[in-house]
Formats: sequence, C-alpha cells, structure tokens
Amino acid sequence: MTAKDSCPIPAAHKRLMDCHAMWHAMADSYMQPESFRMHLNSLMQGMRNVTFMLQKQKSTLPMFEEWYTEFQTAAKSNPLMRWSVNSRNRIVKESDLELLSKVKVRWVGDWERRQERVFSFPPRMSSKGILAAIFSDPGNPQMGVVTISRQWIDKALPDREILKATRGVFVNLSALMHTAHTAASSEACGLSIREPVCVTPDLAAEPLACMDINPGWLQEHLDLDAGRGIDEVTYLVERTPENSKRAEKRYGATIKVKGDPIEVSAKIIEQAGKALVRDKKHIPIIWFFRGDVVIDSMVPVFFDQNGKYLTMHRVADRVESLKADGVIFLNEIWYAQDVKEDKDGKVIPARDRRDRKEALHILAATSRGEYASVFTPFSRTLFGKIVLGETISETMADISIDGQFNILRPVIDRWRNG
Ligand SMILES: [Zn+2]
Ligand SMILES: [Zn+2]
Repeated sequence: MTAKDSCPIPAAHKRLMDCHAMWHAMADSYMQPESFRMHLNSLMQGMRNVTFMLQKQKSTLPMFEEWYTEFQTAAKSNPLMRWSVNSRNRIVKESDLELLSKVKVRWVGDWERRQERVFSFPPRMSSKGILAAIFSDPGNPQMGVVTISRQWIDKALPDREILKATRGVFVNLSALMHTAHTAASSEACGLSIREPVCVTPDLAAEPLACMDINPGWLQEHLDLDAGRGIDEVTYLVERTPENSKRAEKRYGATIKVKGDPIEVSAKIIEQAGKALVRDKKHIPIIWFFRGDVVIDSMVPVFFDQNGKYLTMHRVADRVESLKADGVIFLNEIWYAQDVKEDKDGKVIPARDRRDRKEALHILAATSRGEYASVFTPFSRTLFGKIVLGETISETMADISIDGQFNILRPVIDRWRNG
C-alpha cells in the first residue's frame, strides 16, 4: 500500500465530509422551518469541529503554526468565516432567523382570469400551517395553485442567504484541509466515498456543483386542482432539469441575439426557422434583456396548464431579480385559422382540433410597454421535411384585448406593479 491510501488528518477530514452531507440534509429541509434550523445548527457545529480536530493534531503536522496562523488571519477579515468559526458556541435560534428570513406566498385561483393574491406569513410557519390559515377563510376556495417561496437568513450574517453562506464556509474549510494535506506531503487522500455519493474526500477550492441549488429562493408548489387534501400534499421544489440546461447551451450558441428585443425578434425567428428545418422541432427559449443586451436565457419546461402558469411566474421572478427590462419568448405553437366552438359554446383550443396548424411564434415585451408578435407558419411534407411559410410581424402598444400575450402576463404585471 502507498501513502495514497492513508489520510494524514482522518478525524478532521471525516468531519469535513460530515459537513458536506449535513449541508445536503439542510438544503433538503429548506421548506421545513424546524428541521432546517436543526440541520443548520448541526452544520455550524460540524464546521467548527473541522478546525478543532485539525488543531488537536498540530504536533504531527509539518509547519502547522505557519499555515494555520495564515488561515486564522484571513478568517478574521472574512465576515463569512467570522460568522462560522469564531462564533464558538452560538446556536442559531428561531428568533435569529425570524428577523430577516422571508416566506412569500402566491395564490392564483384562475390563471386565465388572473385572480391572484399574495400573502405574507412569519417565516417560522410551516407550509402546512400557512395553507391551513389561508383556507380556513370560507371566502378562499381550494382551487388553483399556491406557490410558497422561502429564503433563510441569520441575523448574525444579514446580507447572505444561508445555503450560499454555508457553502462558502465549506469551500474555505476544504481549502484549509487541502493545505494540511499538502503540508503532510499527501496530495491525494485514501478516505472512501460516502452517502450521498457526491460526498467524496476531494478537496475542492470552488463551490461543488452538487451544492448549487438555486440558493437565493426555493419554492414549493401545490396544485389544488389535483383533488388532493392539504394533509397529503407532496411538495415539488423547483430546479432546472439537466437536459434543459444542455439545450439552452446548444441553442444559446446557435442563435445570436443582440439588440432591442422588439427590433431583433424578426431576426431571431429567421435563425430559429433554420434550426427548425434542420432539427424538425424547436425548443421554447426565453431571453432576458437589459437594454439592448441579453443578460440571461432559459428553456422553460411546460407540463400542463398549471405547469405553464408556474413556469411563467418563475420567469417573472427571474425578470425581477435580474432587473431585466425586456423579454423574448420563442415557442412552437398550434394555431387554427378560424374559431370553432364545441356544443356548449366553448372555444375549442387549436391543439385539440384536427385541422390544427403549426408555427414558430415569438412574443417580445419591454417594461416600457412595447410589444411585438412574430409568427412563421410551417408545414411538414410526407417525408417529414419542414416547409416554412411567410413570416408575419406585428408591433403594438396596447395588448389589453390581445389574448396571445396572456402567457407573458406574470412578467408584464411584475413590471407594472414594480
Ligand atoms: Zn484526507
Ligand atoms: Zn454533494
């Protein structure tokens, strides 16, 4: 056996791996105030233990005084490290979290008619308690979708969200452990992988990819139309699926977007048409603008009508946090040339009609109240080849009677309500 199989500081190194696993346990309980606080305290204690264990072994570690003093000096001027390492026996209490943490609750009864309400509750309240409070009012029927967003902040570190803060401390401790291994001339370490499998002995100097879960706000959604009671609800914490990230990369590189969102729409649909001819289908993409510059893009994932609604609210959240003042939404749609009603007088959606047609469609909007709709119909030959029709562009200032912009409503409303 070589030195590769052994660790010079196994006690401290194992504690660091404990912290990695504890971080995930904390992230997983983000929506449950009591368990979140409990896991946060274990993690804070775990992180302090890493340095205690290291100090215990100082007589066996070459040049310990030198590099450990360096770490301590740096830690003193770093608010993150002061928060974690120096606050020896501090336990994060409910009252420490109550002050700056937030819970936002948005309830949409009917998306089409935009019956939306926003509630505030104290952050210590469980999601179940929040729902019970809303629906104890007989005026609030159990229908539509409720979205609960949470953000945890400790009073002692007022400008950082906790997942992000603890991740930062973990990275600093990893770097310290790396220094300790190097000092002991043991670059690689023989400790084995644990549960979850991302908990390896690797000592990274950057935040680990597995620790990146939308650290600003986390949301859970509750679909009230699914006919489930409040007690048996399972929550969905929203994350961007891997495959949509990959698609975003690919198409983000193919389609060059620059300029005023209203003006560049026609150019984008031209490029999207080429991609469609090549690939036979096109994924939906949303670009976020600040002025003439694209600052972000995303591939929205739609499952059904409520899913669509939730996604577009997520888009509005992103517009708000990016301070974006323009968006372009590119999508493949079904359309019909006329209006047909069913026997009850309800309009039959194009997607449910046999004579439905396909088109590429762009909706562009800015916070200044400018709108554009660009539309390229297409058909498929018997052999599956795509034939593009003529593009129709339209700009407008008033969309109040124009139903096609309904899907961008959450974004437009966010701009209007500031
Ligand atoms: Zn080790
Ligand atoms: Zn991990």
